[in-house]
Amino acid sequence: MVEVDKDKCIGCGTCTSICPDVFEMDNDMKAKVRTQKKCPCIKDAINSCPTEAISQ
Ligand code: SF4
Repeated sequence: MVEVDKDKCIGCGTCTSICPDVFEMDNDMKAKVRTQKKCPCIKDAINSCPTEAISQ
């Protein structure tokens, strides 16, 4: 299960750009998981997150 730790997220938007099917910005301007879908781009988003807020 992919998760975003909102305490670590700084709202940079990188994950939503890399993998928009899985991540979206929430009303608090932090990322959230929109759907638990298996996408190869999740790994790229995890590796690109500057604060390591995404886990799987
Ligand atoms: S890449 Fe990381 S810090 Fe940036 S919006 Fe996504 S979860 Fe937040």
